[in-house]
Amino acid sequence: MRKSIFCILFSIGVLTTLQALNVVDRVEPPNWWTAMKNPSLQVLLHGQNLGGLTPVVNYPGVTIDSVGRVANANYLFLYLKLAGTVKPGTFQIVLKENGKEMGRVPYELKAREQEAASKGGFDQRDVVYLLMPDRFANGDTTNDSHPSLLEKANRANPDGRHGGDLKGVENHLDFFAGLGMTALWLNPFVENNMPAFSYHGYAITDFYQTDARLGTNQQFASLVEKAHKKGLKIIQDMVFNHCGNNHWFIKDLPAPDWIHQFDTYTRSSFKAPVIMDPHASEADRRLLLDGWFDHMMPDLNQKNPHLAAYLIQNTLWWVEFANLDGIRVDTHMYPDPGFMAQWRTAVRDEYPNLKVVGELWIENKALHSYWMKDAPNPDGYNSELEYLTDFPLFADIRQSLHEQTGWERGAERIYYNLAQDFLYKRPADNLTFLTNHDVSQFYTIAGEDFGKFRLGITLLFTLRGIPQFYQGMEVLMTGDQGEGHGLMRKDFPGGWPGDTANAFTAKGLTTDQHLALNYVKTIANWRKGCQAAQTGRLMQFIPSNDVYVYFRYTDKQKVMVALNFSDQPRTFTTERFREIAGSSTSGTDIVTGTVHPLPGTITLQGRTSAIIELK
Ligand code: CA
Repeated sequence: MRKSIFCILFSIGVLTTLQALNVVDRVEPPNWWTAMKNPSLQVLLHGQNLGGLTPVVNYPGVTIDSVGRVANANYLFLYLKLAGTVKPGTFQIVLKENGKEMGRVPYELKAREQEAASKGGFDQRDVVYLLMPDRFANGDTTNDSHPSLLEKANRANPDGRHGGDLKGVENHLDFFAGLGMTALWLNPFVENNMPAFSYHGYAITDFYQTDARLGTNQQFASLVEKAHKKGLKIIQDMVFNHCGNNHWFIKDLPAPDWIHQFDTYTRSSFKAPVIMDPHASEADRRLLLDGWFDHMMPDLNQKNPHLAAYLIQNTLWWVEFANLDGIRVDTHMYPDPGFMAQWRTAVRDEYPNLKVVGELWIENKALHSYWMKDAPNPDGYNSELEYLTDFPLFADIRQSLHEQTGWERGAERIYYNLAQDFLYKRPADNLTFLTNHDVSQFYTIAGEDFGKFRLGITLLFTLRGIPQFYQGMEVLMTGDQGEGHGLMRKDFPGGWPGDTANAFTAKGLTTDQHLALNYVKTIANWRKGCQAAQTGRLMQFIPSNDVYVYFRYTDKQKVMVALNFSDQPRTFTTERFREIAGSSTSGTDIVTGTVHPLPGTITLQGRTSAIIELK
């Protein structure tokens, strides 16, 4: 009898403890590190009605700075201060009510890898390869679908999930390195548990979790480590403007102002000029910044201080966890501009070497230049953002390929674009590109004209800036924006078992695909060793007779780049370039090996180019 009562009491005891433990169902960030420069740590606790409980922490060097309570009683925002002397280990966050323990949750402080944290950064010396993990290579066919995630793999659906993953990226690190790439930018790989269109990764439903169909957090960290060993840097794609409406905190909003809410669905105008327009109305400004990106993607309100701290910490967590080299910020113009500058500064304070490129989809150069760190903006705004995606140059290159060269047209369009580089504090701090995941493939942009394709590749690798390549360009992949995003973002050939064409092994490729692959490989690898092309100054000459010539140069090295925009052969004399060509007596074409005596005449076949290193 006594034994039974004891058993019952014991069982109740265990039960109570379990219930108490379960009072917390989510803790973010999942862990933190000792020896971070910023001593503050926000810990988000979520659980049924825990908002009224009193948190207690008893661990040397950890103090509770403040406790944030919000409208929703299922949240507690715990602000901790970590002393510089705090040791790695696990402490308990105990939640009490009237002195009685109602629950507890363990929290781990890991030892920071000082060496890793001092690394990072990418710059003009790099070439960035952009890939979409779902559409690049399927390295693990067992993870294509996951029981806990809504959308299952269906390769027959252009807008569906196709099964590519982090393992697929890891399997091909040698391919990127061989191609001459030095950095990888992956479209977001964190969880997108959305019922449809989840493959692109921009409707995040968990900021701390790798999507199980792409891999695990550990696999991502291991990918970064292996990439570093091959000389490849990793740039993580992050989104601050919105998340997916299946995000757990959207389903249980901490506070009404966590997101921007409207009586009826209100989409952003996407009209970025209202930010710097001296004549803009407040209504237009609010619509741009507070309107939703899409009906499935609620607009986050970064002016909520708890959310602001949450988003900043999420970035620091990933940098520290995975040892990132860079970050690409999605839709940089749509979150609160003040927050974005605050975010950039906080990340720089912790990681001075890490670099950030923001997506600035604005094709007007004056409006675009507003966003570069230290721009002399009349309104005093400083984005603190060092690199911009060069949409103005992208738009002008695209258009130049389909025009007869003339006054501000064709090759002159590119000349005029670069002449406006005075608008930038540092013109070379632009990420230059011919295409990305949001627009048609470059071979499609080039009208499937190999000559135009080649001109574009030459420009990409020899103009100022950080070149950004996109998966599939090297084998002339097509993809038309007009057919919809799903069809535009085709699977990379060779990434799936049974693919007939394979870009990794070059098997099954057409003659033109071979030519393209070799051309890219040759120029990208040459650029790796050419300081003038990487970081040298640029001098351009007004296009003449359809030929556009510019030089990249340092004190020690000069490279002449000549592009014939006509479909007919063109001959030009180099006499005109004497001020930069100087006393050089010859130059060598880095692709063909042809030696050109200088000064002299050079003939270029229709829509061809020459990259000539001067002697
Ligand atoms: Ca897979």
